[in-house]
Amino acid sequence: MQEKIWLSPPHMSGNEQKYIQLAFDENYIAPVGSNLIGFENELGQYLGVPNVLMLTSGTSAIHTAMMVLGIKDGDEVIAPSFTFAACVNPIIYQRALPILVDSDTESWNMNPELLEKAISDRIKLGKKPKAIVVVHLYGMPAKMKSLREIANKYQIPIIEDAAEALGSEFEGQRCGTLGDLSIISFNGNKIITTSGGGALISRNKEYIVRARFLATQAKDDAPHYQHSEIGYNYRMSNIVAGIGRGQLKVIEDRIKIRRANHDYYCHKLENLPGINLLKERPGAFSNYWLTTILVNPELTGGKTREDIRLVLEKENIESRPLWKPMHLQPVFAHCPAYVDGTSEKLFDTGLCLPSGSNLTQEQKERIVAVILQVLNQ
Ligand SMILES: *Cc1c(COP(=O)(O)O)cnc(C)c1O
Repeated sequence: MQEKIWLSPPHMSGNEQKYIQLAFDENYIAPVGSNLIGFENELGQYLGVPNVLMLTSGTSAIHTAMMVLGIKDGDEVIAPSFTFAACVNPIIYQRALPILVDSDTESWNMNPELLEKAISDRIKLGKKPKAIVVVHLYGMPAKMKSLREIANKYQIPIIEDAAEALGSEFEGQRCGTLGDLSIISFNGNKIITTSGGGALISRNKEYIVRARFLATQAKDDAPHYQHSEIGYNYRMSNIVAGIGRGQLKVIEDRIKIRRANHDYYCHKLENLPGINLLKERPGAFSNYWLTTILVNPELTGGKTREDIRLVLEKENIESRPLWKPMHLQPVFAHCPAYVDGTSEKLFDTGLCLPSGSNLTQEQKERIVAVILQVLNQ
């Protein structure tokens, strides 16, 4: 059996252990310390927004954003249907109702027309949505200009899920700075990782002050432990933050390599009949966290996404179907959905290819050879 090729494995830089050692030297084996402060400052500098709060995960960052916006029992929150469940689950944590909106075909993210349709319909039915969650899947920026115009028109805040999009840009602005509140994930498979972790970012300092309070057990300002609100233990560990500092040093290099992976796949696959790759449109700069292909069996002589995935699996190469839409998930079956078939089609025909920044040229050649063999090319 040939060595395993993973979809998107961690890629350490060698700088991380220096910062972990610092945490040990200072004996800050705790959710406070100089690595945490350093990582928040350094990410703030990278993004150009100083208000950053490091948390245990991207999911806890989305949950905290919901709490900061006061999402509560009975509220409605708009979210993409085509996404990872972690993007929608926090709406349920707050006992609110997710309103699911389908994707457009150019960014695969929230379709602005369907967003507006959903908002006006919910208002007609008696409730104005309290927030809009926007995601940039696979690193590709959503149509932020149109989405922002609609959000502003109806005065609804945006929670930007940039979990997969650190380093991506929309019209020259970094993803992770485009929401009223924004989040990034440092889970093990993301473009940089701390093993697990997340960041909450906002241009509004008050939001981050409030988030810090909620994420550290909601302790009132008193010498004893005094609580008038329910809080959470969501702060990142100072050790984990050290890994993040080492990783952030090499983010530009990681983006360059992921983009080169995408170029390679384009070069080898884009002229094959029935194979399509998601590409940047004007104004969108993607970190190409994952390279994705669509497989149209009508043009591949009947070969499907699953045919390719299963042979890759047999060859010890990990690939994965695109996200299964939330409106098809049993747990979200009760949620109103404004869909037009786009995300269902993406799910049926799409595949994520191995895209790690530590993929070797040899491994890329191995992957492409398998795909060409399945397609009899
Ligand atoms: C990874 C991911 C999350 C969750 O982040 P965690 O750090 O794993 O909790 C949320 N949304 C999207 C789109 C993601 O890819």
